[in-house]
Amino acid sequence: MIYPWLNTIEHQLSTSFAAGRFHHGQLFSGQQGVGKAALVAQLANALLCQQASGVKACGQCKSCQLNQAGTHPDKFNVVVDGQSIGVDDIRMVSHFMSHSAAQNGNKVVIIKDCHKMTTSAANALLKTLEEPSPQRFLLLTTNAVSQLPATILSRCTKTDVQVSDTLKAQHWLASLQIIDSPWLHLFYQQPLLVQMWQQKDQLETIDQLYKFATELKQGHNFSVLVDIINKDNDLARVFCLFLTEQLKQQLIAGMEFDKYQHAQQAIIDFYQNCTQVLGLNLSLAVSQLAYSLRR
Ligand SMILES: [Zn+2]
Repeated sequence: MIYPWLNTIEHQLSTSFAAGRFHHGQLFSGQQGVGKAALVAQLANALLCQQASGVKACGQCKSCQLNQAGTHPDKFNVVVDGQSIGVDDIRMVSHFMSHSAAQNGNKVVIIKDCHKMTTSAANALLKTLEEPSPQRFLLLTTNAVSQLPATILSRCTKTDVQVSDTLKAQHWLASLQIIDSPWLHLFYQQPLLVQMWQQKDQLETIDQLYKFATELKQGHNFSVLVDIINKDNDLARVFCLFLTEQLKQQLIAGMEFDKYQHAQQAIIDFYQNCTQVLGLNLSLAVSQLAYSLRR
């Protein structure tokens, strides 16, 4: 497996492959940055490969060559275009599934972030899941499994993708020359997220966010913090995670539970404002948060 912490899952999947128990609808859930996309890509290649061993494609056959070129006619990726996956996207899936395979083998559909399906899209997908054709496979991923309808969940084999041995993630991150920071352990479940920050030259920014979170109560000038979150709204979540972590430490150190709850609520409110309020005055929101946390 490409990522060492996914070896256990790979082994389980290989076993069900070998026993012919591989279900046609597979749902992979797990946090952002745990490796779901890579896992599903590997599985799809193995399902299409003419001489796969377990869940490993051979890399040599015609199918593997087509996959390497990104032009395999029996593989279909549903890409989220905008906010949601609509019923038309799923109609294309059914259409794709109903035609015979170009390589006389399996056909595979990958739906990334499948929780983004609209209700009608989910209903349309249900038909495909309920009436499976032989040699047709649906590989779904999500980082918000609770948003999926129970009807979809009950018709898929579910795999929780997680870092079961954090030491493996730790070593892997060290191999990327990522320096151990006080916040790094919070992302041992999301090693690829940290790698993405490294690739985007954002590690220093994350350091800054951590510092802001530890010093928010004393701080008065939040302009750098506001700039960071304005530039990349995803980082609001990281900042709130750091704040929550600080708060937990304070609770352990003897903070009153009442105060803890109030502070936690202020962080939740701040995060919701960041993600849901269009044209939010972020400077004001940060000042208010700092004020709430000071009390
Ligand atoms: Zn092959």
